[in-house]
Amino acid sequence: MQSLSWQEQLAQAIRKPADLLEFAGLEADSIGYSQQAIRQFPVRVPFAFANRIKKNDPNDPILRQVFPYKAEEDEATGFINDPLAELNVQPVHGLLQKYNSRVLSITTGACAVHCRYCFRRHYPYQESSSSSKHWQASLDHIKDDSSIEEVILSGGDPLTLSDRRLQEICASIANIKHIKRIRFHTRLPIVLPARVTTTLLKQITDNDKSIIFVIHSNHANELDNSVSTIIKRLQEFDILVLNQSVLLKNINDSVTALINLSERLIENNVIPYYLHLLDPVAGAAHYDVSLDDAQSLMEEMQARVSGYLVPKLVKEEVGASSKTLIMN
Ligand SMILES: *Cc1c(COP(=O)(O)O)cnc(C)c1O
Ligand code: SF4
Repeated sequence: MQSLSWQEQLAQAIRKPADLLEFAGLEADSIGYSQQAIRQFPVRVPFAFANRIKKNDPNDPILRQVFPYKAEEDEATGFINDPLAELNVQPVHGLLQKYNSRVLSITTGACAVHCRYCFRRHYPYQESSSSSKHWQASLDHIKDDSSIEEVILSGGDPLTLSDRRLQEICASIANIKHIKRIRFHTRLPIVLPARVTTTLLKQITDNDKSIIFVIHSNHANELDNSVSTIIKRLQEFDILVLNQSVLLKNINDSVTALINLSERLIENNVIPYYLHLLDPVAGAAHYDVSLDDAQSLMEEMQARVSGYLVPKLVKEEVGASSKTLIMN
């Protein structure tokens, strides 16, 4: 495994529910899966991530994030295909400008892992990702709007792009004087640590902008030594690392799970930034935690640990000028 390149690891990712169960040490048909759901949003789990699934536990918090349960077929009121109305806030293809002073670029539709609760699971990436063709238009827009201080590279996952493409993107942003920061929203350091090579880090830091990584981990079990090594490497390149999580039913909706995650992050010098309420995307209602329960969890967390271990509980509301802060 160690010797495989990240591209090979990506190509060999688990793509069948039965393989996932077998890997988890469970009977092939012990949990029903939705054929319809995987046609729409296929299973994808790199072995590097699947390795952290505990064997013989159908309730494993990592397995639960990536297994296409039958419940994905259930319709739930308010759970829709484009819950954030993102298709309406693009000044140019693949560029989302919702908030003051920053823009978010959909650099690619590809992800290394398919999180079943993903709010972009129905997103028409082919039409909207900022492929090389559209990137120039995004860049022109960013150049022309001097109120933009930060460019967020998102997706999909920007680190699924090649080193060369990322270098081009960063170099072209770095040429714009009014940009102060380049931020990556990426789950690759967690699910495919081999992606974060020294070569990549040299290339994306070869400019005078601050570089920030917002990684995405939902459970302490995700943060094993392979991840710690990669986080250290990021920090050695003066990259500020923050974490965002999604509050997920039966995965991290307990005070213990949330505290363990924060403590593990702080051990790695990573600041717990946001805890998001689930976006109501069709097929993900079985992961939903109510606002009341979320608030109680946060209150209890706040009563028990240091303030910096408590992430900001936020939700995303269409038309709002920032994430909506529920509790800080
Ligand atoms: C979440 C998000 C951001 C970043 O918001 P911060 O509060 O700065 O982390 C920027 N643009 C869009 C479109 C977003 O969804
Ligand atoms: S890594 Fe992020 S964008 Fe990709 S499937 Fe998971 S939640 Fe969605």
